[in-house]
Amino acid sequence: MINKGTLVARRLMEEIGISNSPNEIPIEKIITGRGASFKLAPMDNADGRIVFGDYKAKITVNSQIDYPGKIRHVASHELGHFEMHKGIKRIFTDDDRTLLDWYKSGVHEIEANHFASEILLPEHLVRQYCDDEGFSRQLIEDLAEEFNTSITATALKYFNLGLYPLTLIFSQNSFIKWYRKSEDFPFTYLPPYNTKVPVNTVAGDFFFKQIKQEDFEQVYADDWFTDYNIDSNKQLFETCFYSDRFNFVMSILWDY
Ligand SMILES: [Zn+2]
Repeated sequence: MINKGTLVARRLMEEIGISNSPNEIPIEKIITGRGASFKLAPMDNADGRIVFGDYKAKITVNSQIDYPGKIRHVASHELGHFEMHKGIKRIFTDDDRTLLDWYKSGVHEIEANHFASEILLPEHLVRQYCDDEGFSRQLIEDLAEEFNTSITATALKYFNLGLYPLTLIFSQNSFIKWYRKSEDFPFTYLPPYNTKVPVNTVAGDFFFKQIKQEDFEQVYADDWFTDYNIDSNKQLFETCFYSDRFNFVMSILWDY
């Protein structure tokens, strides 16, 4: 079933007549065109916020965010709240918890994230771009560049479209925070949330040996997965994207 956020985003794009190259359209212009105000300003402990005032809604995005793809993501997320959540709450404040953890932060955040994802990375264009290409780290990097989006938002979109069986694992300060696994991924069980990242993995290299792999590596499937029947020689690919500022790692695992 298509999420409400996705549907509202598609309707909006149709209404304002954007059918391709959304990366060329400044999100701020769409926001002001829809009747809200937009400003970039330094914010403490938040990436973005929308305040529904008596007359006008005000959207603020943290000017200290250091790359444009993320600014676009936060701005689109706030636009999603504007389009869908008027009258529900007066203020929505967003940080990595609401922007990244799609599954724990409640229905309105999930809707705003789906909305942002569809505005920035429209499904039909992403599918067209990926065509029948298999998965690679390069593909995520190319997509992020083509659509001017953050790596994390891009990887999540790719994952949500089910274009290739993947497992995404998000870790912070050497602990596993959350993960998502394609239904057709060959293994099922990962360690519980808030347990230590396994040492012999690419994410483990970062947290325990301070080594950053900017490519992909082979890891043993049973280093990540705890299924009882894994052949001990079975290997998977792992590639990691890093955020030094938050000591945060996104691992992507795939089979070959
Ligand atoms: Zn939000």
